[in-house]
Amino acid sequence: MLLLLSAVAALMVLRLVADLILAALNRAEVRRHANSPPPAVAAIMDGPTYSQSVAYTLEKSRFGVITEIFDTLVLALVLFGGVLPVLYSAVVGWGGPESIWTRVLFVLIAGVLLGIPSLPFEWWEQFRLEQKFGFNKSTPGLWISDKLKGVLLMFGIGFPLLWALFWVVGWAGSTWWIWGFALMFGFQLLMLILYPKVILPLFNKLTPLPEGDLRDRLMALGDRTGFQAKTIEVIDGSKRSGHSNAYFTGFGRFRRIVLFDTLIAQLTPEELEAVLAHEIGHYRRGHIPKMIAMSAIMMFAGFFAIAWLARSTWFNTAFGFPPGEIAPSFLLFALLSGIVTFWFAPLGNLLSRKYEYEADDFARKAMGGPGAMIAALRKLAKKNLTNLTPHRWFSGFYYSHPTLVEREAALVKAGG
Ligand SMILES: [Zn+2]
Repeated sequence: MLLLLSAVAALMVLRLVADLILAALNRAEVRRHANSPPPAVAAIMDGPTYSQSVAYTLEKSRFGVITEIFDTLVLALVLFGGVLPVLYSAVVGWGGPESIWTRVLFVLIAGVLLGIPSLPFEWWEQFRLEQKFGFNKSTPGLWISDKLKGVLLMFGIGFPLLWALFWVVGWAGSTWWIWGFALMFGFQLLMLILYPKVILPLFNKLTPLPEGDLRDRLMALGDRTGFQAKTIEVIDGSKRSGHSNAYFTGFGRFRRIVLFDTLIAQLTPEELEAVLAHEIGHYRRGHIPKMIAMSAIMMFAGFFAIAWLARSTWFNTAFGFPPGEIAPSFLLFALLSGIVTFWFAPLGNLLSRKYEYEADDFARKAMGGPGAMIAALRKLAKKNLTNLTPHRWFSGFYYSHPTLVEREAALVKAGG
Protein backbone atom coordinates (compact mmCIF):
# COMPACT_ATOMS: atom_id res chain seq x y z
CA MET A 1 0.00 0.00 0.00
CA LEU A 2 2.79 2.36 0.98
CA LEU A 3 4.60 1.18 -2.13
CA LEU A 4 1.66 2.21 -4.34
CA LEU A 5 1.33 5.61 -2.69
CA SER A 6 5.08 6.20 -3.02
CA ALA A 7 4.97 5.21 -6.69
CA VAL A 8 2.07 7.60 -7.33
CA ALA A 9 3.85 10.43 -5.51
CA ALA A 10 7.05 9.72 -7.44
CA LEU A 11 5.21 9.78 -10.77
CA MET A 12 3.54 13.07 -9.85
CA VAL A 13 6.89 14.64 -8.98
CA LEU A 14 8.51 13.22 -12.13
CA ARG A 15 5.83 14.71 -14.36
CA LEU A 16 6.08 18.08 -12.65
CA VAL A 17 9.87 18.11 -12.92
CA ALA A 18 9.76 17.12 -16.60
CA ASP A 19 7.17 19.85 -17.22
CA LEU A 20 9.22 22.50 -15.46
CA ILE A 21 12.50 21.52 -17.13
CA LEU A 22 10.95 21.60 -20.60
CA ALA A 23 9.34 24.97 -19.86
CA ALA A 24 12.64 26.38 -18.54
CA LEU A 25 14.51 25.15 -21.63
CA ASN A 26 11.86 26.76 -23.79
CA ARG A 27 12.10 30.11 -22.01
CA ALA A 28 15.90 30.04 -22.28
CA GLU A 29 15.62 29.37 -26.02
CA VAL A 30 13.13 32.22 -26.46
CA ARG A 31 15.34 34.62 -24.49
CA ARG A 32 18.41 33.53 -26.46
CA HIS A 33 16.76 34.75 -29.67
CA ALA A 34 14.90 37.70 -28.14
CA ASN A 35 17.24 40.37 -29.51
CA SER A 36 18.30 38.66 -32.72
CA PRO A 37 15.67 36.40 -34.24
CA PRO A 38 16.92 33.73 -36.69
CA PRO A 39 16.70 34.91 -40.34
CA ALA A 40 13.76 32.60 -41.08
CA VAL A 41 11.83 34.24 -38.22
CA ALA A 42 12.87 37.80 -39.05
CA ALA A 43 11.39 37.25 -42.51
CA ILE A 44 8.04 36.36 -40.94
CA MET A 45 7.56 38.86 -38.12
CA ASP A 46 8.39 42.54 -37.90
CA GLY A 47 10.47 43.64 -34.91
CA PRO A 48 7.75 45.05 -32.62
CA THR A 49 5.43 42.05 -33.17
CA TYR A 50 8.31 39.68 -32.53
CA SER A 51 9.13 41.44 -29.23
CA GLN A 52 5.47 41.15 -28.26
CA SER A 53 5.46 37.43 -29.05
CA VAL A 54 8.57 36.94 -26.91
CA ALA A 55 6.97 38.81 -23.99
CA TYR A 56 3.70 36.87 -24.39
CA THR A 57 5.47 33.50 -24.54
CA LEU A 58 7.62 34.21 -21.47
CA GLU A 59 4.74 35.51 -19.41
CA LYS A 60 2.50 32.55 -20.30
CA SER A 61 5.30 30.13 -19.48
CA ARG A 62 6.03 31.72 -16.08
CA PHE A 63 2.33 31.70 -15.28
CA GLY A 64 2.27 28.02 -16.34
CA VAL A 65 5.02 27.20 -13.82
CA ILE A 66 2.91 28.57 -10.97
CA THR A 67 -0.26 26.76 -12.06
CA GLU A 68 1.60 23.44 -12.61
CA ILE A 69 3.09 23.52 -9.12
CA PHE A 70 -0.22 24.57 -7.60
CA ASP A 71 -2.21 21.88 -9.44
CA THR A 72 0.24 19.18 -8.35
CA LEU A 73 0.03 20.31 -4.71
CA VAL A 74 -3.78 20.30 -4.83
CA LEU A 75 -3.82 16.83 -6.39
CA ALA A 76 -1.42 15.53 -3.73
CA LEU A 77 -3.49 17.05 -0.95
CA VAL A 78 -6.70 15.58 -2.36
CA LEU A 79 -5.23 12.10 -2.95
CA PHE A 80 -3.23 11.74 0.25
CA GLY A 81 -5.17 14.02 2.60
CA GLY A 82 -8.16 11.70 2.99
CA VAL A 83 -10.88 14.20 1.98
CA LEU A 84 -12.31 12.10 -0.84
CA PRO A 85 -13.21 9.03 1.30
CA VAL A 86 -14.99 11.35 3.77
CA LEU A 87 -16.97 12.89 0.91
CA TYR A 88 -17.68 9.40 -0.42
CA SER A 89 -19.17 8.00 2.77
CA ALA A 90 -21.19 11.18 3.28
CA VAL A 91 -22.74 11.21 -0.22
CA VAL A 92 -23.30 7.45 -0.39
CA GLY A 93 -25.08 7.72 2.96
CA TRP A 94 -27.84 9.75 1.29
CA GLY A 95 -29.22 6.62 -0.42
CA GLY A 96 -29.59 2.89 0.09
CA PRO A 97 -26.47 0.69 0.38
CA GLU A 98 -26.61 -0.36 -3.28
CA SER A 99 -28.00 2.84 -4.80
CA ILE A 100 -26.31 3.94 -8.01
CA TRP A 101 -27.37 7.57 -7.97
CA THR A 102 -25.42 8.43 -4.83
CA ARG A 103 -22.24 6.99 -6.33
CA VAL A 104 -22.77 8.97 -9.52
CA LEU A 105 -23.39 12.06 -7.44
CA PHE A 106 -20.15 11.48 -5.53
CA VAL A 107 -18.09 11.45 -8.75
CA LEU A 108 -19.81 14.59 -10.06
CA ILE A 109 -19.58 16.53 -6.79
CA ALA A 110 -15.91 15.58 -6.46
CA GLY A 111 -15.38 16.76 -10.05
CA VAL A 112 -16.94 20.17 -9.32
CA LEU A 113 -15.07 20.62 -6.03
CA LEU A 114 -11.75 19.66 -7.62
CA GLY A 115 -12.25 22.36 -10.25
CA ILE A 116 -12.67 25.15 -7.68
CA PRO A 117 -9.04 25.68 -6.56
CA SER A 118 -7.89 26.52 -10.10
CA LEU A 119 -10.68 29.07 -10.74
CA PRO A 120 -8.63 32.09 -9.56
CA PHE A 121 -5.85 31.03 -11.94
CA GLU A 122 -8.23 30.72 -14.87
CA TRP A 123 -9.59 34.15 -14.01
CA TRP A 124 -6.13 35.65 -13.87
CA GLU A 125 -5.16 34.09 -17.18
CA GLN A 126 -8.22 35.47 -18.95
CA PHE A 127 -8.55 38.94 -17.38
CA ARG A 128 -4.92 39.72 -16.63
CA LEU A 129 -2.60 37.81 -18.95
CA GLU A 130 -4.73 37.59 -22.11
CA GLN A 131 -6.08 41.07 -21.39
CA LYS A 132 -2.58 42.54 -21.24
CA PHE A 133 -1.81 41.30 -24.78
CA GLY A 134 -5.18 42.34 -26.17
CA PHE A 135 -6.64 38.85 -26.57
CA ASN A 136 -9.33 38.97 -23.90
CA LYS A 137 -12.76 39.83 -25.31
CA SER A 138 -14.77 38.17 -22.54
CA THR A 139 -16.46 39.91 -19.60
CA PRO A 140 -16.70 38.78 -15.97
CA GLY A 141 -20.42 38.15 -16.47
CA LEU A 142 -19.85 35.97 -19.54
CA TRP A 143 -17.00 34.14 -17.79
CA ILE A 144 -19.18 33.29 -14.78
CA SER A 145 -22.13 32.24 -16.93
CA ASP A 146 -19.77 29.98 -18.95
CA LYS A 147 -18.61 28.27 -15.76
CA LEU A 148 -22.17 27.78 -14.49
CA LYS A 149 -23.32 26.39 -17.83
CA GLY A 150 -20.34 24.02 -17.72
CA VAL A 151 -21.36 22.67 -14.32
CA LEU A 152 -25.00 22.27 -15.41
CA LEU A 153 -23.88 20.42 -18.55
CA MET A 154 -21.60 18.20 -16.49
CA PHE A 155 -24.56 17.16 -14.36
CA GLY A 156 -27.06 17.04 -17.24
CA ILE A 157 -24.90 14.79 -19.40
CA GLY A 158 -22.62 13.22 -16.81
CA PHE A 159 -25.37 11.99 -14.52
CA PRO A 160 -27.27 9.74 -16.99
CA LEU A 161 -24.02 8.60 -18.61
CA LEU A 162 -22.29 7.60 -15.37
CA TRP A 163 -25.51 6.10 -14.07
CA ALA A 164 -25.69 3.87 -17.17
CA LEU A 165 -22.02 2.96 -16.79
CA PHE A 166 -22.29 2.02 -13.10
CA TRP A 167 -25.48 0.10 -13.86
CA VAL A 168 -23.60 -1.89 -16.54
CA VAL A 169 -20.97 -2.83 -13.93
CA GLY A 170 -23.62 -4.55 -11.83
CA TRP A 171 -25.43 -6.04 -14.80
CA ALA A 172 -22.56 -7.48 -16.88
CA GLY A 173 -20.31 -8.84 -14.14
CA SER A 174 -16.62 -9.36 -14.88
CA THR A 175 -16.88 -8.39 -18.57
CA TRP A 176 -18.50 -5.05 -17.71
CA TRP A 177 -15.55 -3.08 -19.01
CA ILE A 178 -16.16 -4.25 -22.60
CA TRP A 179 -19.78 -3.10 -22.37
CA GLY A 180 -18.71 0.06 -20.57
CA PHE A 181 -16.27 0.80 -23.37
CA ALA A 182 -19.02 0.25 -25.99
CA LEU A 183 -21.28 2.63 -24.09
CA MET A 184 -18.67 5.37 -23.77
CA PHE A 185 -17.40 5.03 -27.32
CA GLY A 186 -20.96 5.17 -28.65
CA PHE A 187 -21.48 8.28 -26.57
CA GLN A 188 -18.31 9.81 -27.98
CA LEU A 189 -19.48 9.23 -31.56
CA LEU A 190 -22.86 10.71 -30.72
CA MET A 191 -21.18 13.78 -29.23
CA LEU A 192 -19.17 14.31 -32.44
CA ILE A 193 -22.51 14.79 -34.18
CA LEU A 194 -24.44 16.51 -31.39
CA TYR A 195 -21.73 18.82 -30.03
CA PRO A 196 -21.88 21.45 -32.78
CA LYS A 197 -25.68 21.18 -32.99
CA VAL A 198 -26.61 21.10 -29.31
CA ILE A 199 -23.76 22.08 -27.00
CA LEU A 200 -21.83 24.70 -28.95
CA PRO A 201 -24.95 26.89 -29.49
CA LEU A 202 -25.27 27.15 -25.70
CA PHE A 203 -22.00 29.08 -25.65
CA ASN A 204 -21.69 30.59 -29.13
CA LYS A 205 -23.72 31.73 -32.06
CA LEU A 206 -23.22 29.76 -35.26
CA THR A 207 -24.37 31.35 -38.49
CA PRO A 208 -24.06 30.13 -42.07
CA LEU A 209 -21.43 32.04 -44.01
CA PRO A 210 -23.53 34.62 -45.91
CA GLU A 211 -24.00 34.51 -49.68
CA GLY A 212 -21.36 36.41 -51.56
CA ASP A 213 -17.93 36.32 -53.05
CA LEU A 214 -16.22 34.56 -50.13
CA ARG A 215 -18.87 31.88 -49.87
CA ASP A 216 -18.85 31.22 -53.64
CA ARG A 217 -15.10 30.94 -53.52
CA LEU A 218 -15.07 28.48 -50.61
CA MET A 219 -17.90 26.39 -52.08
CA ALA A 220 -16.02 26.20 -55.40
CA LEU A 221 -12.98 24.99 -53.48
CA GLY A 222 -15.17 22.29 -51.88
CA ASP A 223 -16.40 21.11 -55.28
CA ARG A 224 -12.92 21.11 -56.74
CA THR A 225 -11.42 19.09 -53.85
CA GLY A 226 -14.18 16.50 -53.59
CA PHE A 227 -15.75 17.93 -50.47
CA GLN A 228 -19.36 18.90 -51.04
CA ALA A 229 -20.13 21.09 -48.05
CA LYS A 230 -23.77 21.92 -47.46
CA THR A 231 -22.90 24.92 -45.37
CA ILE A 232 -19.87 26.61 -43.97
CA GLU A 233 -20.56 28.06 -40.58
CA VAL A 234 -19.13 31.05 -38.79
CA ILE A 235 -18.75 31.01 -35.01
CA ASP A 236 -18.57 34.19 -32.95
CA GLY A 237 -15.27 33.34 -31.26
CA SER A 238 -14.65 37.09 -30.97
CA LYS A 239 -17.12 37.06 -28.08
CA ARG A 240 -14.40 35.65 -25.81
CA SER A 241 -11.00 35.85 -27.43
CA GLY A 242 -9.03 37.55 -30.18
CA HIS A 243 -7.30 34.27 -30.99
CA SER A 244 -8.35 32.80 -34.31
CA ASN A 245 -8.94 29.28 -35.52
CA ALA A 246 -10.69 27.05 -38.01
CA TYR A 247 -11.92 23.61 -37.33
CA PHE A 248 -13.68 20.64 -38.62
CA THR A 249 -15.98 18.32 -36.72
CA GLY A 250 -18.03 15.23 -37.28
CA PHE A 251 -17.59 12.44 -39.76
CA GLY A 252 -19.31 10.98 -42.81
CA ARG A 253 -22.36 12.97 -43.76
CA PHE A 254 -22.33 14.72 -40.38
CA ARG A 255 -19.13 16.59 -41.17
CA ARG A 256 -19.11 20.32 -40.87
CA ILE A 257 -16.69 23.15 -41.20
CA VAL A 258 -16.66 26.00 -38.74
CA LEU A 259 -14.64 29.17 -39.22
CA PHE A 260 -13.99 31.66 -36.44
CA ASP A 261 -15.25 35.16 -37.20
CA THR A 262 -11.84 36.37 -36.03
CA LEU A 263 -10.25 34.28 -38.78
CA ILE A 264 -12.50 35.81 -41.43
CA ALA A 265 -11.64 39.28 -40.16
CA GLN A 266 -7.90 38.63 -40.28
CA LEU A 267 -7.36 36.79 -43.57
CA THR A 268 -7.88 37.67 -47.22
CA PRO A 269 -10.33 35.49 -49.19
CA GLU A 270 -7.44 33.63 -50.82
CA GLU A 271 -5.80 32.91 -47.46
CA LEU A 272 -9.11 31.71 -46.04
CA GLU A 273 -9.44 29.42 -49.04
CA ALA A 274 -6.03 27.94 -48.20
CA VAL A 275 -7.00 27.42 -44.55
CA LEU A 276 -10.21 25.69 -45.60
CA ALA A 277 -8.26 23.58 -48.11
CA HIS A 278 -6.05 22.49 -45.19
CA GLU A 279 -9.13 21.46 -43.19
CA ILE A 280 -10.54 19.58 -46.20
CA GLY A 281 -7.11 17.93 -46.46
CA HIS A 282 -7.60 16.40 -43.02
CA TYR A 283 -10.87 14.96 -44.24
CA ARG A 284 -9.68 13.75 -47.63
CA ARG A 285 -6.54 12.09 -46.23
CA GLY A 286 -8.70 10.07 -43.83
CA HIS A 287 -7.32 11.66 -40.65
CA ILE A 288 -10.68 11.82 -38.93
CA PRO A 289 -11.51 8.08 -38.88
CA LYS A 290 -7.87 7.38 -37.97
CA MET A 291 -8.07 9.74 -35.00
CA ILE A 292 -11.39 8.24 -33.92
CA ALA A 293 -9.88 4.73 -34.14
CA MET A 294 -6.88 5.85 -32.07
CA SER A 295 -9.06 7.28 -29.35
CA ALA A 296 -11.13 4.06 -29.37
CA ILE A 297 -8.00 1.98 -28.78
CA MET A 298 -6.90 4.25 -25.95
CA MET A 299 -10.35 4.18 -24.39
CA PHE A 300 -10.43 0.38 -24.62
CA ALA A 301 -7.08 0.18 -22.83
CA GLY A 302 -8.37 2.66 -20.24
CA PHE A 303 -11.42 0.55 -19.50
CA PHE A 304 -9.29 -2.56 -19.23
CA ALA A 305 -7.11 -0.73 -16.70
CA ILE A 306 -10.06 0.58 -14.65
CA ALA A 307 -11.56 -2.92 -14.47
CA TRP A 308 -8.24 -4.37 -13.33
CA LEU A 309 -7.71 -1.64 -10.71
CA ALA A 310 -11.29 -1.94 -9.46
CA ARG A 311 -10.81 -5.71 -9.05
CA SER A 312 -7.56 -5.23 -7.14
CA THR A 313 -8.56 -4.51 -3.55
CA TRP A 314 -5.27 -2.72 -2.80
CA PHE A 315 -6.08 0.12 -5.22
CA ASN A 316 -9.16 1.54 -3.50
CA THR A 317 -7.95 0.78 0.02
CA ALA A 318 -4.59 2.53 -0.54
CA PHE A 319 -6.50 5.79 -0.97
CA GLY A 320 -8.90 5.11 1.92
CA PHE A 321 -11.89 3.82 -0.07
CA PRO A 322 -13.79 0.54 0.46
CA PRO A 323 -12.62 -2.21 -1.94
CA GLY A 324 -14.85 -3.52 -4.74
CA GLU A 325 -16.56 -0.15 -5.30
CA ILE A 326 -16.44 1.11 -8.87
CA ALA A 327 -17.15 4.81 -8.27
CA PRO A 328 -13.95 5.54 -6.26
CA SER A 329 -11.86 3.44 -8.69
CA PHE A 330 -13.32 5.44 -11.54
CA LEU A 331 -12.58 8.80 -9.93
CA LEU A 332 -9.06 7.74 -8.86
CA PHE A 333 -8.35 6.58 -12.41
CA ALA A 334 -9.54 9.91 -13.79
CA LEU A 335 -7.27 11.78 -11.37
CA LEU A 336 -4.23 9.55 -11.83
CA SER A 337 -4.19 8.49 -15.48
CA GLY A 338 -2.51 11.77 -16.44
CA ILE A 339 0.71 10.92 -14.60
CA VAL A 340 1.12 7.95 -16.96
CA THR A 341 -0.39 9.25 -20.22
CA PHE A 342 1.78 12.40 -19.93
CA TRP A 343 4.75 10.35 -21.17
CA PHE A 344 2.85 9.10 -24.22
CA ALA A 345 1.67 12.55 -25.32
CA PRO A 346 4.75 13.07 -27.53
CA LEU A 347 3.79 9.99 -29.57
CA GLY A 348 0.30 11.36 -30.16
CA ASN A 349 1.74 14.74 -31.08
CA LEU A 350 4.21 13.15 -33.49
CA LEU A 351 1.32 11.56 -35.35
CA SER A 352 -0.69 14.78 -35.22
CA ARG A 353 2.23 16.73 -36.74
CA LYS A 354 2.48 14.17 -39.55
CA TYR A 355 -1.19 14.78 -40.33
CA GLU A 356 -0.64 18.54 -40.30
CA TYR A 357 2.11 18.20 -42.92
CA GLU A 358 -0.23 16.06 -45.04
CA ALA A 359 -3.06 18.60 -44.75
CA ASP A 360 -0.66 21.44 -45.65
CA ASP A 361 0.46 19.44 -48.67
CA PHE A 362 -3.14 18.93 -49.71
CA ALA A 363 -3.78 22.68 -49.40
CA ARG A 364 -0.67 23.45 -51.46
CA LYS A 365 -1.92 21.26 -54.31
CA ALA A 366 -5.49 22.57 -54.07
CA MET A 367 -4.26 26.17 -54.21
CA GLY A 368 -1.82 25.53 -57.06
CA GLY A 369 1.23 26.47 -54.98
CA PRO A 370 2.42 27.13 -51.43
CA GLY A 371 1.96 30.93 -51.50
CA ALA A 372 -1.54 31.32 -50.05
CA MET A 373 -1.02 28.75 -47.29
CA ILE A 374 2.25 30.36 -46.20
CA ALA A 375 0.68 33.82 -46.25
CA ALA A 376 -2.20 32.57 -44.07
CA LEU A 377 0.10 30.83 -41.59
CA ARG A 378 2.31 33.91 -41.29
CA LYS A 379 -0.60 36.18 -40.65
CA LEU A 380 -2.07 33.84 -38.04
CA ALA A 381 1.28 33.58 -36.26
CA LYS A 382 1.46 37.38 -36.08
CA LYS A 383 -2.12 37.86 -34.93
CA ASN A 384 -1.80 35.13 -32.26
CA LEU A 385 1.72 36.20 -31.16
CA THR A 386 2.89 32.62 -31.70
CA ASN A 387 6.28 31.65 -30.32
CA LEU A 388 8.42 31.14 -33.42
CA THR A 389 11.54 29.92 -31.60
CA PRO A 390 10.46 27.11 -29.28
CA HIS A 391 13.09 24.75 -27.89
CA ARG A 392 13.28 21.56 -29.98
CA TRP A 393 12.49 19.32 -27.01
CA PHE A 394 9.58 21.51 -25.96
CA SER A 395 7.92 21.57 -29.40
CA GLY A 396 8.72 17.87 -29.89
CA PHE A 397 6.97 17.02 -26.64
CA TYR A 398 3.95 19.33 -26.62
CA TYR A 399 3.26 20.66 -30.11
CA SER A 400 0.37 19.11 -32.01
CA HIS A 401 1.34 21.26 -35.02
CA PRO A 402 4.82 21.66 -36.53
CA THR A 403 6.33 25.11 -35.96
CA LEU A 404 5.70 27.77 -38.58
CA VAL A 405 9.32 27.59 -39.78
CA GLU A 406 8.99 23.79 -40.20
CA ARG A 407 5.68 24.08 -42.04
CA GLU A 408 6.99 26.74 -44.38
CA ALA A 409 10.10 24.71 -45.12
CA ALA A 410 8.00 21.66 -46.01
CA LEU A 411 5.65 23.74 -48.20
CA VAL A 412 8.48 25.45 -50.05
CA LYS A 413 10.41 22.22 -50.53
CA ALA A 414 7.40 20.56 -52.11
CA GLY A 415 7.16 23.60 -54.41
CA GLY A 416 4.37 24.59 -56.78
ZN1 LIG B 1 -4.63 20.96 -39.33
